[in-house]
Amino acid sequence: MSVSFGAIKALSNVTLSINDDSDICGIIGPNGAGKSTLLSVIAGEVSPSGGTVELFGDSNKKKLNPETVNRKGISRTFQIPRPFFGLTVERNIVTCGLGVNNLNDSQEKAKRLLKILELDKHAHSTAGQLNLAGRKRLELAKALMTEPKVLLLDELFEGLNEQEVDSLVNIVKNEIASSSIKVVLVEHVISALRKLANKVYVLNQGELIAEGETEEVLSDEVVIEAYLGK
Ligand code: ADP
Ligand code: MG
Repeated sequence: MSVSFGAIKALSNVTLSINDDSDICGIIGPNGAGKSTLLSVIAGEVSPSGGTVELFGDSNKKKLNPETVNRKGISRTFQIPRPFFGLTVERNIVTCGLGVNNLNDSQEKAKRLLKILELDKHAHSTAGQLNLAGRKRLELAKALMTEPKVLLLDELFEGLNEQEVDSLVNIVKNEIASSSIKVVLVEHVISALRKLANKVYVLNQGELIAEGETEEVLSDEVVIEAYLGK
């Protein structure tokens, strides 16, 4: 599958399968490698200029509207959280469930997620009052509201301190273990990647340059060179 933005080739002939043995697959690569574009294309926000995205037996070549994406069971978080800053944390979460649930169900689900993500004490603060770690957790809570089958996480751990990373890693692990969600994890925070992903794909300038078991890939010379830009 390929994606172009005008003259820019963001992805060239990338093939990736998230249907295999691993529940969490990681995507790494330097800035501009095409990682976020890859998530956008899986989420149907951007259409491939060549090739297809296949999910659960359906193949797709077009841009999809957000309702279709939710119905297909895909959910994503954004690198830069985009909550409604003036609404309460709880309201932000409830709202995300309304496309697939009635208000009551949405409120019940939101309560559970507020607790799991340790946001319950901030439920009635506005999203704008949260610190970065809180915003990242809110971003995850919002994405989980539609009970996705595929969860796309874009640099969820970026900017968090070690303790915040560890606590969020455990939350993601528990949530995945208690469901059958497949996760695609775009991540620069290697400690989080190591703890979560069993398989890793490496993108560089829009091309897939390596894939395999996490530790193997992370110790690959070619990967280290591309990744560190040496
Ligand atoms: P990464 O997430 O790995 O840092 P991106 O997927 O954001 O990389 O970007 C890959 C390339 O595509 C970059 O050159 C970027 O400038 C370009 N790009 C991404 N989104 C757009 C867009 N909507 N319009 C034009 N160019 C884009
Ligand atoms: Mg990105």
